[in-house]
Amino acid sequence: MNVIINRWMLILLCVFVPYVQAEWLHRTEAIMGTEVVVDLWAESVSDGEQAIAAVMADMRRIESLMSPYIESSELFQVNKLAAENPVTVSQELFTLIEKSLWYSKISDGAFDITFASAGKLYDYRAGERPDDNTLEQAAALIDYKDLLLDKKSRTIAFKHKGMRIDLGGIAKGHAVDSSINVLRQRGIQAAAVSAGGDSRMLGSRGDRPWVIGIKHPRAEGKQAVKIPLADTALSTSGDYERFYIEDGVRYHHILDPRSGKSASSVQSVSILSPLSVDSDALSTTVFVMGIEKGLALVNRLPGIDAIIIDGDGKLHYSDDLLLSDKE
Ligand code: ADP
Ligand code: MG
Repeated sequence: MNVIINRWMLILLCVFVPYVQAEWLHRTEAIMGTEVVVDLWAESVSDGEQAIAAVMADMRRIESLMSPYIESSELFQVNKLAAENPVTVSQELFTLIEKSLWYSKISDGAFDITFASAGKLYDYRAGERPDDNTLEQAAALIDYKDLLLDKKSRTIAFKHKGMRIDLGGIAKGHAVDSSINVLRQRGIQAAAVSAGGDSRMLGSRGDRPWVIGIKHPRAEGKQAVKIPLADTALSTSGDYERFYIEDGVRYHHILDPRSGKSASSVQSVSILSPLSVDSDALSTTVFVMGIEKGLALVNRLPGIDAIIIDGDGKLHYSDDLLLSDKE
C-alpha cells in the first residue's frame, strides 16, 4: 500500500512541480507599434504567466486610449474634435497631457506634444516628408500654449484648426509605469518591463542587478554602453529608430518644435530616473535641447541622470554619473 501511494505521489509531483516552482519567465509581444518585453520572477509558473498576461492587457488598454491611429481612442477623438469644442477625456489621459505640458514649460518648448501638427506630414517608412512651404505652415501650429486644459471639466481644446497632439514621446513610459504597478499589486518583486526604448526594473535580477544595454546608434545589433541597474527606469531616444536618409540628410522621428524638422545635434539620449514616464519624456526633451542645454536641465532635476551620445559618437554624462576629485 505504502509503495503504491509513494509511486502516485511521485507522479503527482512530476506533473505539478513545474507548475508551482518559482521561476524566471520571459515574454515578448508587439503592442503600441513596438516590442513589449516582460521578464519576471514568480513563485509559480501560473502566477507568473497570469502576471505577464495582465501586463500585456494593460499595455493594450493604454494603446486603445492613446493611439493616434485607432479611431475609437480618446486621443483620436481629441485630434478630430478639439478645435471645434472642448473634449472631455479620462483622468489618465488628462494627467498625462498635464505632465507633457510641464515638460514643455521646463524645456522652453523643446518637448511639445503639438509637434504632431507637423509630425503627421512625415512617413519615415515610405521616405516621405512635406515640402518647405507646407512644413512652415504646419510648424506655425506647433505651440503647447495653444493647448487649452480645463481641470474642473477635464476637457482639452485646441486654439487653432489643424492642430494635432501625439503622445509618442511619453505614452510608452507611462505604460511601463502602469505595468510595474500591475505587477506590484500581484506581489511580483523582481521584474523588468520594456516598451521599445523605455524600460523599468522592479527589484534586481536575483542577487545581481539587471544589466541593460544602450544601443550603439550607428552599429546595428551592437551596444554602446551596458549599465547595471535595480529599481530604476531607463529610456533611450535615438535618431536610428525611425528614419530614412536622403542626399546625406537623416530624416527621423524626433522633431524640433521650432522648425518641424528633425533635431540633429546628437545621436542618442538615455535618461535614468525613478519613473519611466519621466525618463521617456526627458529622453525626447534632451534630444531636442542638445548637450549643453539638455545636461543643464538634467543637472537641475533631482534624481535624474543622462548619458548622451553626440554627433561624433562621443559619450557625455550628467554630473551625478561623473566621478569628481572630491569623491
Ligand atoms: P520612441 O521610443 O518611439 O523612439 P522617443 O521617446 O524616442 O520614442 O520619442 C520619439 C517620439 O516622440 C516620436 O516618435 C514622436 O511621436 C514624439 N516626438 C517627436 N518629437 C517630439 C517633441 N519635440 N516633443 C514631444 N514629442 C515628440
Ligand atoms: Mg521619449
